[in-house]
Amino acid sequence: MSFDVLAVRTPTLPPATHTNCYRLGDCVIDPASPYPEEQERLRRWAGPIRRVLLTHHHHDHIGGVEELVATTGAAVWAHADAQVPFRVDHRVADGDRVDTGAGVLIALHTPGHADGHLAWQLEGTGDVIAGDLVAGEGTIVLLPPEGNLAVYLASLARVRGLAERLWPAHGPPQPAALADHYIAHRHMRTSQFLDVLATRGASTPEAVAESVYASVPGANLILAAAQVRTHLAWLLAQGRVTECGPEWSLA
Ligand SMILES: [Zn+2]
Repeated sequence: MSFDVLAVRTPTLPPATHTNCYRLGDCVIDPASPYPEEQERLRRWAGPIRRVLLTHHHHDHIGGVEELVATTGAAVWAHADAQVPFRVDHRVADGDRVDTGAGVLIALHTPGHADGHLAWQLEGTGDVIAGDLVAGEGTIVLLPPEGNLAVYLASLARVRGLAERLWPAHGPPQPAALADHYIAHRHMRTSQFLDVLATRGASTPEAVAESVYASVPGANLILAAAQVRTHLAWLLAQGRVTECGPEWSLA
């Protein structure tokens, strides 16, 4: 079993340049592109549909929603915590089922990357449309204040327990074991950030990012510092670090 997928060009985070739109039965998930020529392609591919389901509200996932709704009359389904600049017809809760006519999709509330993030599992299978829980290309960033590492790790663990195959918003399908790698990677990064604080003493997230990501080719230090901040907030909640002004230290 596989979903119909159409990758459309979007203003997403490099190195990714496209967002996957998925279709099952009378539903399209994440009609993402704000560009007219891509929306035209998307409309022809989608055909007559009844619902637009969202994984989450980030701009590189919702750019084509209004256009597709205007031309098809489809209803928009999104989680109650999703904040979008258009009308939502149905607020989805965890466990909601959508009969697409070609299979039932079950909503999995999986926040951490975005408030109100939903993954969609095809009932009776291990196939899960994963949104931005994982990526087949590039990485997933957790940006403050929305990004929350504890919540994200719990969402990854939950989906890992349900899925065999993850269908991400960027890049090709991935084995569910990728979620394990993501969890391990976040813990590895956390230890690296702690090591920097242990070695250098009080440091800003920018300084920590520079120290850890200096060897990573093409690293975006602004995004890297935001990641550090998200990890430090997680450590702060555990009482393992303290924050004093712009600097962070080991507790
Ligand atoms: Zn996102």
